[in-house]
Amino acid sequence: MVIDLKELKEGEGQFTKQVGPEKLDLSYPDYEFDQPVDVRLQVRFTENQYIIRGSVATTARTRCVRCAENFVTAIDEPINWVVQLIADRKILAEEEATEDYWFIEKDAYSLEIGDRLREILLVNAQANPLCATDCRGLCAQCGKNLNEGDCDCVREETDSRWGPLKELLEKHDDPQKKI
Ligand SMILES: [Zn+2]
Ligand SMILES: [Zn+2]
Repeated sequence: MVIDLKELKEGEGQFTKQVGPEKLDLSYPDYEFDQPVDVRLQVRFTENQYIIRGSVATTARTRCVRCAENFVTAIDEPINWVVQLIADRKILAEEEATEDYWFIEKDAYSLEIGDRLREILLVNAQANPLCATDCRGLCAQCGKNLNEGDCDCVREETDSRWGPLKELLEKHDDPQKKI
């Protein structure tokens, strides 16, 4: 995905685009990206810099790590970039660049942003997805989804701090299990 800079040199402009997820090559284990990606940016040119602010948003299907139900998760991430123009490509200071601050040649006509957008979306996808922050998960004894109601098993109250360890142990017992 490319921002055309020619028209923006004089000041300020909007960059709004909707693209299919395949255009950004979005793929991540256990995530299915099947909805368009909305990119909304405001680009301002000032003193040899492009100041780019806005957001990138889409939705993805994934599976809850606690209750194993499929659900749709919304990803909506802010963008805050500064792109510095420099005169000579030879002095491109790559080591000073970060994910939010980088350099292009002074006479560049366009700005490629696809890789950066993909990175933002996929970094967001890495968090262990929960269908809801208070998802009750599955009963360890009968496997019932406790979000749908209590089961009849007698449950001793377990310390919730052991939850993550329990998940790890379950994964250890069954390496095929996807979390
Ligand atoms: Zn859940
Ligand atoms: Zn049960």
